[in-house]
Formats: sequence, structure tokens, C-alpha cells
Amino acid sequence: MAEKATKKHEFQAEVKQVLDIVINSLYTDKEVFIRELVSNASDALEKLRYLQLTEKEVYDEELALEIHISTDDQENTITIEDHGIGMTRDDLSQNLGTIAHSGSKAFLDAVKKSGEDNQNLIGQFGVGFYSVFMVAESVEVYTHNWKKTAKSLLWKSDGSGTYEIESTKGVQRGTKVVVHLKEEDKEFANSERVKHVLTHYSSFVQFPIKLNGEQINNVQPIWMRNKNEIKEEEYNEFYKFQANAFDEPAYRMHFSSDAPIEINSLVFVPSINPEQMGFGKVDPGVSLYCKKILIDSKPKGLLPDWMRFLKGVIDSADLPLNISRETMQDSVLTNKIGQVIVGRFIKMLEDESKKDADKYNEFYKNFAIYLKEGVAADFKNRDQLAKLLRYESSATEKDKFTTLDDYVSRMKDGQKEIYYLYAPNRETIDGGPHIEAFKARGIEVLYLYEPVDEFVMTSVSKYADKDLVSADNSDIKLDEVKAGKKKDLLSDKDGTALCEWIKETLGESVNDVSISKRLVDSPAIALNADKVMTPSMRRMMKAMKQDVGVQNSVNLEINPGHELIKNLSALKDNEADTAKLVAEQILDNALIAAGYLEDPREMVSRVYKILERVSQK
Ligand code: ADP
Ligand code: MG
Repeated sequence: MAEKATKKHEFQAEVKQVLDIVINSLYTDKEVFIRELVSNASDALEKLRYLQLTEKEVYDEELALEIHISTDDQENTITIEDHGIGMTRDDLSQNLGTIAHSGSKAFLDAVKKSGEDNQNLIGQFGVGFYSVFMVAESVEVYTHNWKKTAKSLLWKSDGSGTYEIESTKGVQRGTKVVVHLKEEDKEFANSERVKHVLTHYSSFVQFPIKLNGEQINNVQPIWMRNKNEIKEEEYNEFYKFQANAFDEPAYRMHFSSDAPIEINSLVFVPSINPEQMGFGKVDPGVSLYCKKILIDSKPKGLLPDWMRFLKGVIDSADLPLNISRETMQDSVLTNKIGQVIVGRFIKMLEDESKKDADKYNEFYKNFAIYLKEGVAADFKNRDQLAKLLRYESSATEKDKFTTLDDYVSRMKDGQKEIYYLYAPNRETIDGGPHIEAFKARGIEVLYLYEPVDEFVMTSVSKYADKDLVSADNSDIKLDEVKAGKKKDLLSDKDGTALCEWIKETLGESVNDVSISKRLVDSPAIALNADKVMTPSMRRMMKAMKQDVGVQNSVNLEINPGHELIKNLSALKDNEADTAKLVAEQILDNALIAAGYLEDPREMVSRVYKILERVSQK
């Protein structure tokens, strides 16, 4: 036919950038391109195996599900061929011409942020198919989709900005990638060199890999094997292969059970938290298998959402093989499997934290946000998850954590509640008035540094039968401090009169004014009188553009032993004007100390007025 079959296309803009970075970075670990191509071949075979469960009409049906690699050191080529699902013309331009993989997009964003230091990023993300251009002068991809009606196609590119797709003849089902190596990379046309690269991870590929005709892997998947036979490095290599990761896993759990459900699972906690690097929410990373056949590589609803940072595999022989991804999501069985794993996983973390607290704390610093999300959202596992929480407290040093259990074990006789305080950092809490009364009585307070922690505390609400209560709550009744210096207090009568006068003077700005029993050194304290919403929650809601009204309702408590308060009592009868300014300023100072003051403008002009009066004297 005379029809012109070749068509020239431009790569999508982002792809060009990725190509540029990949090719031009002095990348030390060029061999990863083999891993990327083999893993694509393995994905394609897995997709075909899954499809064969339901599709009867498959092109080249007799072809074995294998990966064939051949090297040619005369022609300087390495060829990776699979008999997987293959690609259509649309697939070719969509999958190889654009960034389909979320990882590649994330990679680019990271590169933009990081400026020059790209090497490390390539190491961390891998860039899939495009990594081939680190070593290739040009690449040909021959492919035939699994459908009998599909066509033989050839995709070609030298990685310099364009690619071509043309019709061809006689391609078997699947994909064959022919890599024409650059002169300086011809080592990858050497069979020994390639064999060495493949031995690192080929045992995790579940299809036979043949290098120049010789099978080089054992296809029993690692999660089905006996724990005692698996070496540490093998586990780590599997993690890297399966998760497409470059870090070492922080924890792993290899767990098998026969009853009530048959499960073989191997899950890992990474050491790097991808969401912390600003890549948005990641997809679930634990794949679901049934008898070694991949059902879904990103199953939604198998594990709770907060566990999306885990990587690995769950294999259950009890799943119906032809379970569809849709029915999987609401199947009772997958729920049960998920629950078993969640329970085991939380228990594993608890045990590990006891075995090596420092290591756990390191993990916690990076991944606490997921556990907190779990506490807030995963009702079923909330109580178990609460055991994994860690906080600084008035009883710990800076950067040292306590557990809720340890807190409870240190509680004073008769203490019925667990107290916490939120502020952006330790210094603010220690310097503020709220902690005074607790310190004076030797009552421990947990220190919360992130607004989300207050939600976490409200979600847990009770631990070991003790209510969790914010220490700035005005309902808390603390015993009177038994400190001896009580002589110089304002009399009860004067105190009551002063409270009434302040309340009247401040009007709407306070809910109530009273004599404090908790204050030691500060003249006054602002306490939250809003049962539902704490001030930091209000700030968070405001940040989310929610309408939450003007200011929290507060109770002001004054310290009857403080000179300023005693002076104010006299001042109000002699110089009412100045006394009013002082009272207003005391309230604002208390609000600032509590982190509640939202609009400081008025305060500044008042301070000038006060200064003016003082300087007149
Ligand atoms: P990823 O594998 O992470 O999706 P890649 O850049 O490695 O990203 O591959 C891009 C896409 O190209 C794959 O998702 C797949 O759709 C397609 N692809 C690549 N290699 C093959 C192959 N051997 N057979 C079928 N499709 C492939
Ligand atoms: Mg890939």
C-alpha cells in the first residue's frame, strides 16, 4: 500500500525536560535502565496474565510469559523483549511520549525545587522508560498489542526531542526494546556485565528471565518463601525493586497465616516520606496478589488510607482469582485481610518501639502524620494507634518523647485527667502562663506543636480511662498551691470588687473575670471558655477559609498576689482612666501569652497612651 506509515511527533514538554536532565546529568548508576526496562516487561506480563483469566481471544496465545534479554557486542545493542500485553499506536504516544507515571511528574517538580542537585533525585525516583536514554544513542520499540486485530508497530527515537511511529510487519505479541548503545556505554552489550546487573533483583521478577537463552532467575516469589532462608540484602533488594525505591526500608514485616484466612505478606516502611518532600498524596503502595498473580498494584480500600506509605505485597490464596478491582473494594474478604494486616502492623511498630526507641523515634519524626491521620480517621484502630503516639512533655527534655502509657504511669495520686497544651514550640509553652500552675503542682503536661495534634487529642478523647484535656481549659480545677507565700494577697473583698470592675470595664471582650488559684508568677491568665473549639482549631479553620466568628470566648483569671494586680485595685479608685488602659492591656498581654490574640493593632496605640502617662510623671 502507498499509505505513508511513518509519522514524526514531538515529545510532550515535560518529557523533553526529563530527557534533558537524565541525559545530561553525570549519573553514576546508569545500569538502572535495565531494571526499569525489565520492570516494565514484568508489568506487561502481569497485565497479560491477569487478562487471560477472562479473555479467551489473545493474539499469539501460545507464547510463554517470559522476558528475553539478548546482548550483541558487535552491534553494541541490548534487547529486552517480553510477550506481555504490548501497546497500540495510542499507547505508544501516550505512554512513551508523555509523562504517564506520576513519579516522573513528581520528579520534575522536585528538580525545579532543588536547582542543581539533580543526581540524587534521579537516584530517588527513577524515571522509568526514559532512563534508557542515559545509555542509548537511539531506541527502537517493536510492539504488538494482545488483541488479534492489533497491528505491528515500531516506535523510534534518539531522545533528542522527537519520536516516530511507523507500521511494520511480523512483530509477536508484546514489546521488544532494542537499545543502540552509545560508544561510552557499550559495557551493557557485554553479557557478563548484564548478568551481574540482573542478579541483583531478577529473583523478584515472577517470570523467567532468559539472558542470551539461559534462564537466570528462580521464580518463587520472596513473600512465599520461608523467612529463615531469606537474607537481609534480599529483602532490601526486593523492597527497592517492588517499590521502585532507592532508600533502605526502615522496618519490614514478613507475615504468613493459614487460618482463618491464608495470607502471605511482606510489607515495608520506607525511610523517606515522599509526601514530606511535597509530592502530594501518594497512592497505596501495597499490591494485592492471589496465588502469586497480581490482582491490583494500588488497591484502594484494602488497607486504611493512613497506611498508604507502606510498600510491599499481600497475597491471599482465598481470594477468588477473577475478582474484579471494583468488587474487591467492597468485598468482606478483602476487608478481613486488611484488618489482619493492620493489627499486625501496629503491633509490629509497638514491639519495635520497645526494642529500639531511638530508631522508632526517628521513624516517628518522619511518619507521625500518617499515624495521627489514622487516629483521627480510622475509628476501628484508634485505641491501638494511640499507643504509637509520642509527645514531648513538661517531664521530658527537649526532643525527647513520652508515650501516653508512660504519662499515665507518672500521674499523681488523684489526677484524673491527661493534660496537654498546644503551641508552636517548647519555648512558647514554657514561657507562657498556662503551664505555671501545672509545674507548681508537679503535674505533667504533654506538649503539642502541630495544630493537627489538637484534633488527634480530641479524637482519642480518652486513654486508659482518663480524659484528655487541654490545660488552657477554664473548667480545670486545680488544688490551691501549697506554697507558703500567701501573706501579701489582695483581700477577698478587694479581690471580688476588682474582678467586678474589670469585667465591667472590659465588657464583651471577656466571658468572666475571677481570682486565680493557679497562677504563680504571672499577673493574669486567659483561659479558653469555648468547649467546642479551641483557639488553635479556630485558627486552622480560618486558614481553611471557614467562617468561625471573631474571637474565642475567654475567662480572665487574675493573680491576687501580684504587685500589678494589687496596684490596679487602688488605681481604679484614684485614676479610673489609666486603670482602664491597664486592665485592657493586662487582657491583651494574657491573650498574647496564650497565643489567642488575633488583631494586635489596637494594642499598639494603647501602649503609646500608657507610655505617655508614665512619662509625664
Ligand atoms: P511506569 O512503568 O512507571 O508507568 P515507564 O516510563 O517505565 O513508567 O513506562 C511508561 C508506560 O509505558 C508504562 O506505564 C506502560 O504503559 C508503557 N510501557 C512501557 N514498557 C512497556 C512494555 N514492555 N509493554 C507494555 N507497555 C509498556
Ligand atoms: Mg516502569
